Amino acid sequence: MILEEYIDKAVWERIESFSQEKETPFLVIDLDTIRKNYVELKQGFSNADIYYAVKANPNEEVLKLLNDLGSSFDAASIYEIDKLLKIGVSPDRISFGNTIKKISSIKYAYEKGIRLFTTDSRSDLINISRYAPNSKVFIRLIVEGALTADWPLARKFGCSIEEVKNIIDLSETLDVEVYGLSFHVGSQQRNVFMWDYALLKVKDIFEWAFNEKGITIKSINMGGGLPSKYLNKADELDIYSEKIKESIANHFKDNEPRIILEPGRSLVGNSGVIVSEVVLVSKKSELEHYRWVYVDVGKFNGLIETMDECIKYPIYCSSTGSHEEDTEEVILAGPTCDSVDIMYEKYMYSLPLSLKEGDRIYWLSTGAYTSSYCSVEFNGFPPMKAYCI
Ligand SMILES: *Cc1c(COP(=O)(O)O)cnc(C)c1O
Repeated sequence: MILEEYIDKAVWERIESFSQEKETPFLVIDLDTIRKNYVELKQGFSNADIYYAVKANPNEEVLKLLNDLGSSFDAASIYEIDKLLKIGVSPDRISFGNTIKKISSIKYAYEKGIRLFTTDSRSDLINISRYAPNSKVFIRLIVEGALTADWPLARKFGCSIEEVKNIIDLSETLDVEVYGLSFHVGSQQRNVFMWDYALLKVKDIFEWAFNEKGITIKSINMGGGLPSKYLNKADELDIYSEKIKESIANHFKDNEPRIILEPGRSLVGNSGVIVSEVVLVSKKSELEHYRWVYVDVGKFNGLIETMDECIKYPIYCSSTGSHEEDTEEVILAGPTCDSVDIMYEKYMYSLPLSLKEGDRIYWLSTGAYTSSYCSVEFNGFPPMKAYCI
């Protein structure tokens, strides 16, 4: 693996020197990288409002940094809302973006001053109008892109065009303002045309609402989906921002709606490195071709997105012989007593032949969807520590 393709040399040196002497496994988050990603995204989408998707990395220092940079936030639960309020984010910069929520959560959010919600069903809309009256809502549309992303968010969220129209119809009788339409093209969506498909559908609904109902919908919430850097290559951010802005201009001409982005992975993904240690290297039998490499991180303490080998993290071994002949394909597995705790066996990473117990393995681009997914006590292992530098 060529380290410099995935991480800035200076960032790597900072992280590596911080990591010395600490007991593995742990995640190191480089805050400067997040700052850079935020500024770059702001430059790419200068007219958009950014609502950071807290779930991607809810570390308090990360939230504080983004708050200082002027970001708004998308929360998935009352617990994330509380966390944001506690660090001083004002409620008018928080949206409650989860379409699946209890009445008690809607009430709670409303009492705390949240007035922006997302919905994808008539029953949830009724709850919002009743328990968070006068609020603004995004109606979430289901889009095909969600199926082709590396980490799909399909099926469970969003509704059909017909149902969006039903929800708009119903909203006219309720105490809510349909503020915009939202969609999510699926997380780690590498195909930029998926945004165009979604925007085309949104445009059709905007036209229907205006022509049939006399309603002008003001904004589009494009969710997340912008990719981070993993082994399956994606383009650089500017390619996505240019193409997406082109689609918006094409579809909406002079009537450009307000744009909202909810980036998660693209803001924090490449900021993190998980530092792990080899627990054991073994073969199942003398005849078996492949070695198994067991490390002290796995599906239950940080690497859940290796499920179905969806996300392929760049892996770096400190002892790497950089020559091809010094490496061999291995099966990579975690430390727990559960056989699903295997990260990669179809896709095989080539790791040094000299790899042995105690050697360190670094998992790059692990700033998103890792530490917050850790189990609390499976096999007695504590959740992975996270440090911000
Ligand atoms: C998860 C999520 C996001 C963030 O998606 P990324 O692909 O990580 O950028 C944004 N909005 C909503 C509603 C989400 O559920």
